[in-house]
Amino acid sequence: MSGYLLSIRTLIKLLSYYHYLIRLSVHCFNIIKIRFPYIILILKVYKKYIKILTMRVGDVFKTYADFEEALSQYKKSTFVDFYIKDSKTAKSQIRRYPKLANSSEQLKYYYVKLACVHGGSYRKKNSCQDLRSTSSMRQGCEAYIYLIANAKGDALELTRMNDEHNHEKSETLFSHLPNQRRVTPQEKMEVLELMKLKANKKLIQHKMQTKTGKVINLKDIANIYTTGKTPSHNSLSEIVEQLQNTYNCTVEISADSDQNLIGLFIQDKIMQNTFKAFPEVGNIEVYWKLDVYF
Ligand SMILES: [Zn+2]
Repeated sequence: MSGYLLSIRTLIKLLSYYHYLIRLSVHCFNIIKIRFPYIILILKVYKKYIKILTMRVGDVFKTYADFEEALSQYKKSTFVDFYIKDSKTAKSQIRRYPKLANSSEQLKYYYVKLACVHGGSYRKKNSCQDLRSTSSMRQGCEAYIYLIANAKGDALELTRMNDEHNHEKSETLFSHLPNQRRVTPQEKMEVLELMKLKANKKLIQHKMQTKTGKVINLKDIANIYTTGKTPSHNSLSEIVEQLQNTYNCTVEISADSDQNLIGLFIQDKIMQNTFKAFPEVGNIEVYWKLDVYF
């Protein structure tokens, strides 16, 4: 009898256990049903994110633009930059590889090898007389990505890759690389306009950085000005002529053996008279790192 009662108790326990399980399942099902669109969306985003962030051997791209888009995301997420080190266009290789006859123009390359911008080593030539300190990004990094047209010739396939970089990777360093600092023609025009209005270079820098979100150095601003301004027609000889004829100045040009300008001596009428009156007094005016643009 007791054994019979026990089995009933066990049965009740089991039933309540199954009941609990069923309720739990229904509850989970309801959650999934309500959240289904969100779950799908999350999965889609995750899939895209994973697809974009990784670049692996075996990846296939229908067009070079597709690869560029993926590379752009890959660069932003891994903080590394690449440049095209070697390539052959699909057009140039059609005779050699007939499969390329079916390739679309958007494939662009038969093969393309991209190397890390920190690849290669920098050695100053012995013949170089330039004593300025120069900076180079070359650090011997061997990371690269290699794509080649697939067997059908209708897509580019990533067949080889080395993603081991021998240098530090950080968002800050990445944002300071020249490619990321590059400004658009419109942004260049804006900088030039502001420079013409004699705006402060640091304020221009701040404005452009806030507007574009790019890291822009003072050197970049100076380069934009140097390369973008309309060339001056005043040659040195014209300036000397003007100083002598219009302003009655005594002008002497100092040049080295290679005819490189070393200095310019200018003495106007007031200076000449002062020098004549007080030859024993010497005035020295020193300029150090003057900002020539303002
Ligand atoms: Zn590298």
